[in-house]
Amino acid sequence: MNQTSRASSAADGKTEIRKTTCYMCACRCGIDVHIEEGKVRYIEGNRDHPINKGVLCAKGSAGIMQHYSPARLKKPLLRTGERGSGEFKEIEWEEALALATDWLGEVRRTDPRKLAFFTGRDQSQSMTGWWAQQYGTPNYAAHGGFCSVNMAAAGIYTMGGAFWEFGAPDWDRTELFMIFGVAEDHDSNPIKMGLGKLKERGVKVIGVNPVRTGYNAIADEWLGITPGTDGLLILALVHELMRTGKIDVDYLIRYTNAPWLVIDDPDGAAHGLFARDEEGTPLVAERTSGKPLPSSTPGIKPALKGRFELPDGRYGIPVFELLAQKYLDPEYAPSAVAERTGIAADTIIRIAGEIAEAAFEREVIIKQPWTDMKGERHERMIGRPVAFHAMRGISAHSNGFQTCRALHLLQILVGSIDCPGGFRFKPPYPRPVAGQPRPHGGACADTALAGPHLGYPRGPEDLLLEADGETAQRIDKAFSWDAPLSAHGMMHMVISNAHARDPYGIDVLFMYMANMAWNSSMNTTSVMDMLTDKDDKGDYVIPKIIYSDAYSSEMVAFADLILPDTTYLERHDCISLLDRPISEPEALCDSIRWPVVEPDRDVRGFQSVLLDLGARLELPGMVTEDGSPVYKDYADYIVNHQRKPGVGPLSGWRGEDGDQTGRGKPNPDQLKRYIENGGFSQVHVPAEAHYFKHANRAWSDWAIEKGLQDGPVENIFQLYLEPLRKFQLAAEGKIKPMPPEHHRARIKSCFDPLPTWYAPFADDGLDDNAYPLHAITQRPAAMYHSWGSQNAWLRQIHGENALYVPGDVCDSQGLVNGDWALVSSQSGEIRVRIARMDAVNGSTLWTWNAIGKRAGAWALDTDAPEATRGFLLNHLIDELLPPKGDGRRWANSDPITGQAAWFDLRVAIRRDPDQTTEQSMPNANAQTSPVEPPPKNVRFGSEAAK
Ligand code: SF4
Repeated sequence: MNQTSRASSAADGKTEIRKTTCYMCACRCGIDVHIEEGKVRYIEGNRDHPINKGVLCAKGSAGIMQHYSPARLKKPLLRTGERGSGEFKEIEWEEALALATDWLGEVRRTDPRKLAFFTGRDQSQSMTGWWAQQYGTPNYAAHGGFCSVNMAAAGIYTMGGAFWEFGAPDWDRTELFMIFGVAEDHDSNPIKMGLGKLKERGVKVIGVNPVRTGYNAIADEWLGITPGTDGLLILALVHELMRTGKIDVDYLIRYTNAPWLVIDDPDGAAHGLFARDEEGTPLVAERTSGKPLPSSTPGIKPALKGRFELPDGRYGIPVFELLAQKYLDPEYAPSAVAERTGIAADTIIRIAGEIAEAAFEREVIIKQPWTDMKGERHERMIGRPVAFHAMRGISAHSNGFQTCRALHLLQILVGSIDCPGGFRFKPPYPRPVAGQPRPHGGACADTALAGPHLGYPRGPEDLLLEADGETAQRIDKAFSWDAPLSAHGMMHMVISNAHARDPYGIDVLFMYMANMAWNSSMNTTSVMDMLTDKDDKGDYVIPKIIYSDAYSSEMVAFADLILPDTTYLERHDCISLLDRPISEPEALCDSIRWPVVEPDRDVRGFQSVLLDLGARLELPGMVTEDGSPVYKDYADYIVNHQRKPGVGPLSGWRGEDGDQTGRGKPNPDQLKRYIENGGFSQVHVPAEAHYFKHANRAWSDWAIEKGLQDGPVENIFQLYLEPLRKFQLAAEGKIKPMPPEHHRARIKSCFDPLPTWYAPFADDGLDDNAYPLHAITQRPAAMYHSWGSQNAWLRQIHGENALYVPGDVCDSQGLVNGDWALVSSQSGEIRVRIARMDAVNGSTLWTWNAIGKRAGAWALDTDAPEATRGFLLNHLIDELLPPKGDGRRWANSDPITGQAAWFDLRVAIRRDPDQTTEQSMPNANAQTSPVEPPPKNVRFGSEAAK
């Protein structure tokens, strides 16, 4: 049934169906919202939607309870009590906006750095980032730095895309699927549908995760790996594949930098960089003569092994030779990694064999001619049908960037990137670093930044440092020596750095949808102290806090001014190709949200509020010459904003007549056309461009036509990552700028240009006997962060969380199901209820993420089980590592990207002698709720009137 017929048949009765996009997690499925008498009555999946094809999960269905949540904020609020008390008075929007304009205007006129503007699980980052750029503060990012930036950055730097919104397994053709470190996460319904396809076809699924829940529970084989050792396992697989010669050499020569020559000149300033000709083209050695020639030489057959004299007398070694030397080393042999990973050597050897068998014995051939970027015509598309997927589990470690790179190395070695049966890029990806911006900083009063905040540094020269070459420009210290490739910023460091006034103090902290006073921060108790701490004069150390959210979260109590947001059913939004699109491998897709119901409270969509503030502040691009607002609201922006001529937030129905896709003038009817089409636009990729997008001329031409790129972009997969070597050279004192002395050893050891593994930093100097166990969280299928655990329906699935403890650990500690236990780390201690479980790595404890709540928040009863028996592991995790005797506290983050190392946590557990108290600890005082107490029963629709 098509869109129109479904809509009209439903409209026959009392119910009208309005089609929009779910926001109950990050997956962004299409939904049919049934409206009766202006109320939401029912939500189901949109069967025509490219993402979910009608599938809806428990969270999506429960959107109705999100929309009618008693925790919804109702009006702008101004703090009246002490910060943190939760005491506010309601004010009118005009007063709220005037106050915010006053605070923000003063900062912009004097020192825009004094504004830190950070957004949480924001799905409008292309707009919020643009706003911050026009404002001129260098301090903007969303939540990626504490989520999965390692995954995104490693993928972009290696091959121009990663998992989730960047790409997906070829579910219909793969013959073996491995999933690493994924709870029920992000690309939610498509993964479930894909796994269903694999099960129907009898394709083997291997799950690698310390915990056997979610997807791992239905895996045919589960590897209960020790946290933080995924990179070792992957490189042992690489070792085996290389040892047995099961790699796709032709693929490596065609699509990767495997043949490029790396300068071998140990005393020189270019040692380890690529040898290049005068035009900057990398050199390769011609196989028979050994003569160095540009890699672009037509028809060249390059050598993969050897050492070759360069025109200037130095020598060069092919990347592949370095790769073989590194990974054939016995340190990566399965037997050498078995104990540390917890995976037996013969299992690793067998799985390497299964990967090789699927890739090379069961190749997939599609009779689709295509032409590569060099102009060579191919009659068929040949695929290596092994697919991988990974997410936060392997990336939220201090070694996560290199681990994610290792996984991409494995994929590339067997030739399974963007080929039939392998991993497939989703438009607009691939987007290699060559087509990505550099980060922009610098800040001048009353001036916009010269470009976007977030980008991909090519070397130390792109860092955002002050003139001394050491001090970070940004409050989170992203793109500094602390975290040079922090492509998503480091939101988790903002409050602690602002509190420490390091590198400087700020005046206004402005946040959106980020529960930093609770489950989104490490070291939660200390963060609450930082937000309320006062200086010698009695002023708050962080002077002003503006916060926008739809709900009365824990963070609300710590703000001075609250700008209440709408629910996702009351707003305009766009899921944009400029941001995080919803494309599928064979279709370019984006979508919208629109107000399927009108707000019944005095709330406004945050993005519209931001544009209003931008106009009041007279930010460039937001006011006309006569000072009036350029955009009436966010809907107006979505339709009329152009990031470059003809390219705006939405790709569908562009041009004055709405007959263009990707490029075209703004179309005043664009939103109407999206609504008529079910809330999304979908344009199919030509068959010739379905695979090998990284090297496919038809793809390149189509991507240019659709406005995804402005011209051809070379995408050679970077097995050897030269930017990392540049940082090493700087740390060796050979190129400028150079890092401060205390950073050098770490950069030299961790910034290996070939994927590598090092032990998580939290293990360094740790007394293994004192903290013998690992502790991690998993995301439950039924919840998305803190939103879900206040939802009246979803609370019935997970109203509290237990700490799951392996059977042997229970036995050694005398713990039985339901006992209360004390869990300690180097940072603190918590009291939790435990549950025995054997489907878990034997040295790992785990719990569900973000279920524990602070009493008084989210309009829950103060004795709600989430507050009395629920808990957070966050209290045990510090954003800084313990002192190591060098006079410094190092960040508990990946040293390359700054990603928060949530899963490096080491703990001990013991039975609490007190088994009578039914209360998890720490137990923060109840907050005063800024919203009314909850009703006894939550009803909706016509039930609400009874
Ligand atoms: S997977 Fe996420 S976006 Fe899709 S229906 Fe469920 S909650 Fe909504």
